[in-house]
Amino acid sequence: MILNGYEIAEKRREQLKEKIEELKNLRIIPKLAVIQVGSNDASNIYIRNKKNTCEKVGIEFELYSYEETITFEELKEEISKLNKDKKIHGILVQSPLPKHLNESEVFNVIQKEKDVDGFTTENIGALWNNKTGLISCTPKGIITLLKEYQIKIEGKHVVILGRSNIVGKPLALLFLNENASVTILHSKSKDIKTLTAQADILVSAVGKPNLVTKDMVKKGAIVIDVGINRIDGHIKGDVDFESVSEIASYITPVPKGVGPMTIESILENVIEAIELQRQKKKDLLK
Ligand code: NAP
Repeated sequence: MILNGYEIAEKRREQLKEKIEELKNLRIIPKLAVIQVGSNDASNIYIRNKKNTCEKVGIEFELYSYEETITFEELKEEISKLNKDKKIHGILVQSPLPKHLNESEVFNVIQKEKDVDGFTTENIGALWNNKTGLISCTPKGIITLLKEYQIKIEGKHVVILGRSNIVGKPLALLFLNENASVTILHSKSKDIKTLTAQADILVSAVGKPNLVTKDMVKKGAIVIDVGINRIDGHIKGDVDFESVSEIASYITPVPKGVGPMTIESILENVIEAIELQRQKKKDLLK
């Protein structure tokens, strides 16, 4: 069975629109600020997609573009202004950043209640402690997708290929918080096939086409393909979809699998950010 991220994202977007209308009745117009330093084609496409999707659901979008030569101190000042701006509810820094800027240092300037990417140390700490916070979008989208299909996570053995800060690591924590047992594999892991073949849920977040083949997958496993590989103008995942879909019980396609769920999670995080900011304001008034 195909896990159709595109359809689920569309469905959830309709529900989100209702929440946004309720906020508008309270005179709150959700707004996302995206920060871009320098420019590259892939980032421009991602930003355009985010803008279009935001505008479709009624979230205002504003792009803040800076020269590639901007210093950390200058960027910090700009982000601090957005932190203070009450009309902005979510802030997202488009990566990659130029080499002279340390991504983690830049992310950490963002106020945690506006960190819709969930990349600040405080939000990562909240995830680590299984506490409320904004969760990074691709991992959140994957868990949402599984829950939408009512797939039980508890007790499952999850094997994740990839240990990046934006996908592999936060996803492992999310699965652990859902009471799964988790194995994380990476480029230095040995005997990968033996381990992937034990997975009830296998996630590939590497960025190598056809990395996951049928012989690596247990019959009836759930296969989640996060990879995005551009080949001859087409987008392919990490999983050899044709052969693996013959034995998997559920599988995400690429495109229309994890990608739309990531975008959907950004939108949902903007609305969650508003709730967190309202709660913070109430707590300060106590
Ligand atoms: P990344 O930072 O490059 O991390 C890739 C990970 O894969 C690393 O941990 C690396 O190990 C590991 N790896 C490399 N070769 C391997 C192998 N042969 N076997 C097992 N692990 C291996 O990438 P990322 O940012 O996490 O993204 C991964 C992929 O997902 C990319 O294709 C990206 O475009 C895509 N992506 C998609 C979405 C979406 O919404 N669909 C969102 C984010 C990313 P080391 O740590 O040892 O180097």
